[in-house]
Amino acid sequence: MNFKLSEEQLLIQKTAKEFAETELAPGVVERDEKKIWPKEFICKMSQLGFMGMMTSSDWGGESLDTISYAIALEEISRVDASAGVVMSVNNSLVCSLLEKFGSDYIKKKYLNLLATGEKIGAFSLSEPQAGSDASNMKTSAVKKDDYYEITGIKNWVTNGINSDFVILFAMTEKELGYKGISCFIIEKGWDGFDVGHPENKLGIRSSDTCELYFDKVKVPESNLIGSEGQGFKIALSTLDGGRIGIAAQALGIAQASLDASISYSKQRIQFKKPLSENQAIQYKISDMAIEIEAARLLVWKAAWKKDQKQNFSHLASMAKVYSSEVAMKASTQCVQIHGGYGYMRESGVERLMRDAKITQIYEGTSEIQRVVIGRSILK
Ligand SMILES: Cc1cc2nc3c(=O)[nH]c(=O)nc-3n(C[C@H](O)[C@H](O)[C@H](O)COP(=O)(O)OP(=O)(O)OC[C@H]3O[C@@H](n4cnc5c(N)ncnc54)[C@H](O)[C@@H]3O)c2cc1C
Repeated sequence: MNFKLSEEQLLIQKTAKEFAETELAPGVVERDEKKIWPKEFICKMSQLGFMGMMTSSDWGGESLDTISYAIALEEISRVDASAGVVMSVNNSLVCSLLEKFGSDYIKKKYLNLLATGEKIGAFSLSEPQAGSDASNMKTSAVKKDDYYEITGIKNWVTNGINSDFVILFAMTEKELGYKGISCFIIEKGWDGFDVGHPENKLGIRSSDTCELYFDKVKVPESNLIGSEGQGFKIALSTLDGGRIGIAAQALGIAQASLDASISYSKQRIQFKKPLSENQAIQYKISDMAIEIEAARLLVWKAAWKKDQKQNFSHLASMAKVYSSEVAMKASTQCVQIHGGYGYMRESGVERLMRDAKITQIYEGTSEIQRVVIGRSILK
């Protein structure tokens, strides 16, 4: 067993860390406050190869392993979890899906542009009445000659406003339930396709989230991904990989909470000594460090299993549940260590607590992850 990162992985970690600290850090509080989408930074992340990390170089990507992706995503999210989620959706939910399930026509037309970061993608599964129970979707895709006509409403789509292409799930045969769901790639600007207003969120505020509206949108049959009825399988398989990304995002938030706690507790003087000299504070910091180390091992193991082409589904769920809970706990303790200052916007640490919460909700809540893990263990 070898825990040593390769030279290439160390270089990716260093590059992501330097980029995050020098470029992302300066305006992160303002972007969060004003809900400014990090467009120029996404362009720079594309130049660094961070938007299609695991995609084959045949399709414009970097052909890197999942561990490299998790390391880069942790470093980006350590500074700006909003930039982290934009990166994560494009890499794991869009590029990976297209590479695995898309036809050569779709890969040539869309994947090249998405993996280089020239264009940005979104993944649209959820609907107002279909969250955890995604199979309860109402959006329909009716086959007509050589195209499908799509009608319905999708909600909470990350990158919904700023994306160019959307991976969309819709019912082609309602009576078949989840076996009647199909997957498509849709372009912004097509007739009948409208985009809603940005949601006003608790955290990851500088990433955009919105509703998407489809009114008889004509989608060529060549834009069907996989075959009719394969959509639910495609969604679940893609989300398995996506959960490693969200776990890495949570890990970045947890690590940032630890870093800030160490630094503040050493400089803040109360009762004539630094906070860090109190055992009660040391214990909080020790617990954070222990849990972050364990979470990182889980994330890397899930990523390694995926790279070995072994079944990694329950490990990805374990990594997501654990890392997101560690992020929530560490960021809450970080605010506590910062006292009243931690409660103030300018401290930057209350943002960590707000950003951490979403990692327990999207791409399958912690409850649903436990269902996945339970099923896998008990079968
Ligand atoms: C900021 C943000 C970004 C998002 N981005 C995207 C995106 O890009 N694309 C996309 O498709 N979706 C996206 N989502 C949707 C997200 O995936 C869903 O919110 C999530 O799957 C949960 O669904 P829900 O919110 O409808 O909660 P519900 O399914 O209504 O669940 C409510 C609560 O009940 C619990 N629960 C539900 N069923 C069970 C059960 N069987 N057993 C035990 N507990 C249960 C849940 O865990 C949760 O705590 C996003 C959501 C947010 C908030």
